[in-house]
Amino acid sequence: MKQVKTETIDNLEGLIGTGETFRFRCHDGLACYNRCCRNLNLFLSPYDVLRLKQGLGLSAGDFIDRYTDAVLRDGKALPELLLRMNDNEEATCIFLSEAGCTAYAHRPDTCRTFPCEHGIYYNADGAKERVLFLRPPSFCEGIHDPRELTPEAWQKDQNAENHNAMNELWGEVEALFSGNPWGAEGPQGQRAKMAFMAAYNVDDFREFIFGSSFLKRCKIKNDLKMKLRRDDVAVMKFGFEWIRVFLFGLPSKTIKMK
Ligand code: SF4
Ligand code: SF4
Repeated sequence: MKQVKTETIDNLEGLIGTGETFRFRCHDGLACYNRCCRNLNLFLSPYDVLRLKQGLGLSAGDFIDRYTDAVLRDGKALPELLLRMNDNEEATCIFLSEAGCTAYAHRPDTCRTFPCEHGIYYNADGAKERVLFLRPPSFCEGIHDPRELTPEAWQKDQNAENHNAMNELWGEVEALFSGNPWGAEGPQGQRAKMAFMAAYNVDDFREFIFGSSFLKRCKIKNDLKMKLRRDDVAVMKFGFEWIRVFLFGLPSKTIKMK
């Protein structure tokens, strides 16, 4: 998700403006079919990890170990997860088979949105708007299909509503990391490890909530406590809140100190 500045919005390549449509349909009869599932720098959001690990029946930790590489990019305070590509000549995606994507029902948001990209635009009043850019690779034949789509229709077609909503929530939390929140401890320190777990590893974070002294020190409502025992999305949202409160000292209606 890109943050888009007001003064640059009109000059950005591929922007699909309000009320505009784009043409696209992807299907297995095209010569380019699956060609785009290769040699990618595909960063996974926390919600991508959650959906993939659930779909594959793995713990978040096992999914992360088996299918991702953690990287710390320049200027970033928190490591991110890259979906692993196969070690073959074409660097095919680890989920790509001859028949297509083996993780299709759980595929990441980037794959759902492709050949578009999301952006968040803050208008002159500071209000947030989601924008979409059409940026297909040169070999993409799907853009010659006559089907016309609005950004909303494309999101529905790809069943991406939950991904988009969760990624927006994460975008707000991730923006808090833009300074250096770790001080001398650096990104290898204990606080950074906790933040990474709260964001990306719902299973370990649930263990932290119920298996550490956390609930002795903090008060949360009983109905939320029950939800956290069985609902991964609730744990992820709680993890985002934990980051806001314990790393950035922001007020919370959900977590109170005892
Ligand atoms: S996850 Fe599936 S759709 Fe996405 S790049 Fe890999 S094979 Fe392609
Ligand atoms: S290149 Fe375009 S049309 Fe071809 S498989 Fe990828 S998204 Fe579909």
